[in-house]
Amino acid sequence: MRNLAFDTLPPMSGRPVLELLLGDVVRLRRAHPCGSTEWLVDRLGADIGLRCQGCGRHVLLERRQLESRVTDFVSRGDAALSAAVGPRPAVGA
Ligand SMILES: [Zn+2]
Repeated sequence: MRNLAFDTLPPMSGRPVLELLLGDVVRLRRAHPCGSTEWLVDRLGADIGLRCQGCGRHVLLERRQLESRVTDFVSRGDAALSAAVGPRPAVGA
């Protein structure tokens, strides 16, 4: 006996990937000890570089960690700049 009622895609794709750009200012769930919740994205890669907008402290967070902490975008950065430092395609144009 086969139950074909389960022959559908499970709803597992509900988590959108957070698109980060260089120059983004994001708001994090938890405030920095200095009281600021706003961070400037200044490095993209396996780890995301963030600069506290309250005290200037720089930290690196794994993308996954950051994604779970971001609550909001305060302002958006520069997509062209982000592409320039992103994973390089093997094209020498
Ligand atoms: Zn701070």
